[in-house]
Amino acid sequence: MNIEKTIENFKKNGYAVSLFDTATEAADYLNQSIDGKSVGFGGSVTLQDLGVFDTLSTHNTCYWHWPKSGKAMPEVIKAAAEADIYLTSVNALSENGEMVNIDGTGNRVASTLYGHEKVYFVVGTNKITEDLPSAIHRARNIASPLNAKRLGRKTPCAIKGDKCYDCDSPERICNGMVIHYKKMGSCDMEVVLVKEELGY
Ligand code: SF4
Repeated sequence: MNIEKTIENFKKNGYAVSLFDTATEAADYLNQSIDGKSVGFGGSVTLQDLGVFDTLSTHNTCYWHWPKSGKAMPEVIKAAAEADIYLTSVNALSENGEMVNIDGTGNRVASTLYGHEKVYFVVGTNKITEDLPSAIHRARNIASPLNAKRLGRKTPCAIKGDKCYDCDSPERICNGMVIHYKKMGSCDMEVVLVKEELGY
């Protein structure tokens, strides 16, 4: 995995890029960069690992459907979709500067395309792959089965844990895949890379 090449190509593709040795440093950076904003969160084990929801909530208005807020989930998801800032991770990113995300509901991938002032993609370097085909392979065969398992879905990938079976299960979590070839034109986007194993 070539981190320098990855950074260079993401910059070339229009993104701001920051790199941190630890999740704590990345969380501090986000906490300093985002202030007085409304902030939406996509479902993400990486963001959960960083613990930024609690710290950002002390000086921003944050919306995330994962922590129990007492509000109805559709209401929280809608507020997150309309927030100034959106935070999420991705399932894989390539050394050539592309990102791949698979989603079941669609709120997370939709928010990476349009509707915010700025989107931050927070990603552990464990998700870097050589090229786009290997990023798609990672998203489909590594990230999605692990997410299905985490969610306790009754899908072949969650039971066997080895690969995607392109299932017809009613509990399938893979309904759409978004590929970011380059930064979307609608808003600022930053890739926050962390030299740690984060998320799936
Ligand atoms: S399509 Fe089905 S088998 Fe494949 S990763 Fe998604 S949930 Fe699992």
